[in-house]
Amino acid sequence: MPSVNIIRGARVGSAPERPAERYQLAPRRAVTYWCRNGHATQIRMASDADVPALWDCPRCGLPAGRDADNPPGRARPEPYKTHLAYVKERRSDAEGEAILAEALAALRRRRGRD
Ligand SMILES: [Zn+2]
Repeated sequence: MPSVNIIRGARVGSAPERPAERYQLAPRRAVTYWCRNGHATQIRMASDADVPALWDCPRCGLPAGRDADNPPGRARPEPYKTHLAYVKERRSDAEGEAILAEALAALRRRRGRD
């Protein structure tokens, strides 16, 4: 009796048929978030999912909210300040003069020694 080698369904690349409805997405809705920089981000969420109040803007990282006219975050972000501006905030002009005089004196002492 000849041996019969039968391997069923072993063809490379073969896959069992699956009903198409298994791949259908759950019902979705589009939710739009706005950040303070005016970026609108549309997120598609399952219809039955709880919609978060905030979403991080993928463009600038600021928190984004559902209200286009009133995005979350500070109304006026801290303006950019130079290092000198911060120093001037901490020190008065008189203190600045004293520090400068002290530094100049130290410099002159060092030069005098050389
Ligand atoms: Zn943004």
